[in-house]
Amino acid sequence: MNLAERNLDNFGVDATDRRHNIHPFTDLSVMETAERTVIASARGNYVHGEDGRKFLDGLGGMWCVNIGHGRDEMADAIADQVRRLAYYSPFDDLTSAPMAALAQELANRAPGSLNRVLFTTGGSTAADSAIRLIHHYFIRKGEPSRRHIITRDRAYHGSTYLTASLSDRDYSIDWMPETSFIHHLSAPGLYRRPEGTSEAEFMDILAAEFEAKIAELGPENVACFIAEPIQGSGGVIVPPEGYHPRMIGICRKYGILYVADEVVTAFGRLGHFFASQDYFGIVPDIITCAKGLTSGYIPAGAVIMSDEIYEVLSRPGTYFNTGFTYTGHAVACAAALKNIEIIERERICERVREIGPYFEERLAPLADLPLVGDVRGRRFMMCVEYVQNKERKELFGDDVRIGKRIWRHCQKRGLLVRPLAHLNVLSPPLTLERDEIDFIADVLRDAIRDTADELTREGIKAG
Ligand code: PLP
Repeated sequence: MNLAERNLDNFGVDATDRRHNIHPFTDLSVMETAERTVIASARGNYVHGEDGRKFLDGLGGMWCVNIGHGRDEMADAIADQVRRLAYYSPFDDLTSAPMAALAQELANRAPGSLNRVLFTTGGSTAADSAIRLIHHYFIRKGEPSRRHIITRDRAYHGSTYLTASLSDRDYSIDWMPETSFIHHLSAPGLYRRPEGTSEAEFMDILAAEFEAKIAELGPENVACFIAEPIQGSGGVIVPPEGYHPRMIGICRKYGILYVADEVVTAFGRLGHFFASQDYFGIVPDIITCAKGLTSGYIPAGAVIMSDEIYEVLSRPGTYFNTGFTYTGHAVACAAALKNIEIIERERICERVREIGPYFEERLAPLADLPLVGDVRGRRFMMCVEYVQNKERKELFGDDVRIGKRIWRHCQKRGLLVRPLAHLNVLSPPLTLERDEIDFIADVLRDAIRDTADELTREGIKAG
């Protein structure tokens, strides 16, 4: 019996997990009673429960398994690297072939002059490092007052202290986020824009809000604006037409840096290696990425910065104290290189561009259902928002746990989606086939109908 078997022998996975393991973003008061699905294995676009159930993976692990699960080629690349060199320090001028090769690969693929790469351990550490290096940059540049960061409601930039503070203010109700230099603008969601405004008018409102915030803080005090190209965990919020070019234009006007958090959108999810330029037409100063960088096979992240930033950071003088034990981990870099090779060889970006619109098209009619307020997203990044009252766009109370109810009905029918309060998010592997898209759309429709019946039986008003 190996160590894992020995530890699970008494209670099995589910009960052992409840006794000792704390999950991310969990209501700990229901640890004992919350439903658990034990995932035992995964292959291609499917995951398998310990109890033998098979699910289509509608969430791509967690927005990350872009090339699908269980690829032998990835296992081989990882095992080969472990045998050759699993780990050695990246500090003190030591390096390794996978780290150097991956830095070159990212520099080649990133837009504009984004040619310098700082590896991290994931998305949170990428955004966190980006903000630290920006502060360092402005100090080196002789503009130390530029320390204020502008972010947005509904943002998600991670779960370190700093990146959680940069995220939506709702994440901050039970602790003390850093607020002295972090400022939030409105989320650019069209569904909940002010009543009676057109998309173009809404865009004007958002741009004016940004300019007003800069004026309030003093442009000489603002360091950067950080934005996901499409807000992911905040509810797949697609900004109005022209949003990113307009916002970066304002940044340029005031000497403010633009950080694109592409942790979700990079490596194919929107049909391009990076969405900033190829989808939204902008060249940011910094791109952060993680998730799809290795398709989740091993954790890794990166900050890709412009030559202009690097030039300032590399001026003689003090040096920038940053880095992690696992910066540029050899196995993670080997996994990322193989992952990129697969994305390229299988023309995965091209297929997302081809099949993505079909995904949008198949999900759109769900909006006719009484519980559905909005269906939104682009290509392989989609979301359904549920409302109690469609006309007034009124949400269900938290106690109804509407997203979770529909998630449960989807699971019964063999589909995993992500329940996020009043939303279900879909971010499947990019290898999804058309008939699997049909399956997702059909199961969601049935699950929403089952849930509506369930609410009626419980006397909860909806529709
Ligand atoms: N940035 C964005 C846009 C994300 O969606 C996430 C995670 O979902 C993060 C950062 C944090 O990444 P990680 O969980 O790898 O630290």
